[in-house]
Amino acid sequence: MRIVDVKQFVSNPDGSRRYAWNTISADEALKLAEPRLRCPECKGAIGLFRRSEDDAMPNRGEHKKRNPGCSLGDCFNGVQRLATNPIEPDEESVRA
Ligand SMILES: [Zn+2]
Repeated sequence: MRIVDVKQFVSNPDGSRRYAWNTISADEALKLAEPRLRCPECKGAIGLFRRSEDDAMPNRGEHKKRNPGCSLGDCFNGVQRLATNPIEPDEESVRA
């Protein structure tokens, strides 16, 4: 997946700040120091990977455990389902 969720402080319209899941590009996430990560869609645990030398694979996130219920993965079966052990599934993702 080219987008990932990272837990970050975000500014509210009133100027206060809160700690929330932000959906950002894998490129941006790779600039962060040890971000907390999850899949934006199925909330499953993911790892970050840099692009391959030959550019065949881009900067990306990959599920730690493959989830056939996630359209961002590589084995989607057409029916969306949360990961087996979703990370804070009750917390919505904020689109940066
Ligand atoms: Zn997923």
